Amino acid sequence: MTDAGGPGAAAVCSAKGCTQIATVALLWNNPKLHTADRRKTWLACDAHTRTLGDFLAARGFLRETAAVDGP
Ligand SMILES: [Zn+2]
Repeated sequence: MTDAGGPGAAAVCSAKGCTQIATVALLWNNPKLHTADRRKTWLACDAHTRTLGDFLAARGFLRETAAVDGP
């Protein structure tokens, strides 16, 4: 028995191939694709908060970060 698959799917990291639970939400906007008030959300685990955040920040897309609270 495992406790996986309970009610309320946990937020999983958006990094390719990563299955860790996300702890941070990165809210971003690509002005070439999105209107100014639009926000896309990437979820990141502890290991990927930096890499995903740097990727967005380097392109000027990163708008906000927010903590993801577990259930
Ligand atoms: Zn990750």
